[in-house]
Amino acid sequence: MPDKYSRFSELPHQAVDVIVIGSGFAGLAAAIEAAAAGASVIVVEKMLAPGGNSLISDGGIAAPGTVYQLDAGITWDSPELMYRDMITAGEGLNHPQLVKVIAAGAKAAFLWTEEFLGVSYKNRVDIFGGHSVARCHTPESVSGRSLIKKQIEKLTSLGVPLYLGTPVKALVQDERGRVVGIKVADRDGGLRSDHADQTTIHAAKAVIVAAGGFGSDVAFRQAQDPRLDETLMSTNKPSATAEILKECMWIGANPVQLSRIQLGPWASPDEKGFGLGPLFGDYVALPYGVLIDPATGGRFVNELSDRKTLAEAMLRNRHPVIGIADAAGAQTAGWDLQPAVRKGVVKTFASLAELAADYGIDPGALQDSLSRFNHMVIRGEDCDFYKPLLNMAAPIEHPPFYAMRFWPKVHYTMGGIQIDVLARVIHRDQYPIDGLFAAGEVTGGIHGACRLGSCAITECLVMGRIAGQQAARL
Ligand SMILES: Cc1cc2nc3c(=O)[nH]c(=O)nc-3n(C[C@H](O)[C@H](O)[C@H](O)COP(=O)(O)OP(=O)(O)OC[C@H]3O[C@@H](n4cnc5c(N)ncnc54)[C@H](O)[C@@H]3O)c2cc1C
Repeated sequence: MPDKYSRFSELPHQAVDVIVIGSGFAGLAAAIEAAAAGASVIVVEKMLAPGGNSLISDGGIAAPGTVYQLDAGITWDSPELMYRDMITAGEGLNHPQLVKVIAAGAKAAFLWTEEFLGVSYKNRVDIFGGHSVARCHTPESVSGRSLIKKQIEKLTSLGVPLYLGTPVKALVQDERGRVVGIKVADRDGGLRSDHADQTTIHAAKAVIVAAGGFGSDVAFRQAQDPRLDETLMSTNKPSATAEILKECMWIGANPVQLSRIQLGPWASPDEKGFGLGPLFGDYVALPYGVLIDPATGGRFVNELSDRKTLAEAMLRNRHPVIGIADAAGAQTAGWDLQPAVRKGVVKTFASLAELAADYGIDPGALQDSLSRFNHMVIRGEDCDFYKPLLNMAAPIEHPPFYAMRFWPKVHYTMGGIQIDVLARVIHRDQYPIDGLFAAGEVTGGIHGACRLGSCAITECLVMGRIAGQQAARL
């Protein structure tokens, strides 16, 4: 990352063509495209560091038809299949035209990160619940940081300034309702009034909103879904709040599906934030292991269900559940679990009896459940919960056994402001608001009832790039 970003005191006095709010994947993709198309662009970010939730993400990106899939022997994936998977998980609430654009643009977005920006990916593809094939590509760093770093390098080479510590307080409209700028404050500035500390920056072409989701905004999220109070932890950064979403609504943007808030079912209640547990949960225990209700010692769900199904099944148990995999599953998955083990989030056991004793599970019931599951693995069919038993699934019987407590955390907000396929923000009366575009988690309707793992980054890049290209064309 560059060690010098632009400062509030250096904000431009002249109008720029395009202002981008937010420095996550979506905002930076938009800024790069707008600048590459010849527009003068600035990015404003309220935090003192760039990247938002994008920076702390795993960086996993879904794309069909890549060489990585071919290397893994997957020849049958396609944009149509990805579209169907997203609509199925979204329970048909997804805005279908947006999903089509994203599935169709996924491979190009992935190649853009790899070939244009220079991100390196692991030579593997992973499957997450709800996808019908392995299509998640993970960067070598297993972190969104590498993509953010490359995006910022590209922006710097294009001469685009990124202003940190610059919260946007309001959108500015002209007398005909066109968005023509923003009001920013330095970090302690006042809200909505023409406070002395507020500065107006004019946009000659457009403002692009890429301010992320609202998973950390307890009051706002709880108003949408009263179950999501402060006792439920979140994987998000504290900066994931709703003020820009509310500002868009204030000027008439249509909010869609705000109560559709995703809980990450692969999280551990034994650590704060996203933590190290999800690497074991999502990449090892769910595909190659089982989930056990400690009260019964039995399985209770298809572990490769989508996130909504899994999280709801866990919440019905009313207590954390135990994810278990063995040495063979861990080896097949091929991830380094030692950091999570050292942190104490994932535990290892020499025998199932030890594991059962540690979590207070009836050892006989646990042994019976695993024997039954192993038998079904050998037969290749899960007659209890219909988990797709992957080619590489093997009976869970080789010590050491790995285990983690699972409990959902607020992870992603599917709802947001309505956009069309050109990333234009749609007014509540269903016309595009002049001069206003949006992309990324601040938008709604793409994932419907449930976002599939690794589809958010795809969406941020596809729609962010479109927003930047369209804004520059005005
Ligand atoms: C821990 C974690 C892991 C994840 N892993 C994956 C994954 O592997 N694959 C996947 O597809 N998805 C993943 N996701 C989801 C995905 O990372 C996010 O949905 C995506 O990064 C959001 O990008 P964005 O650009 O929309 O918003 P963000 O990256 O959150 O960026 C928004 C930015 O806007 C700024 N901002 C907000 N309000 C203002 C304001 N008033 N003024 C100025 N700036 C403002 C914020 O500070 C922030 O920096 C993960 C999410 C989390 C939390």
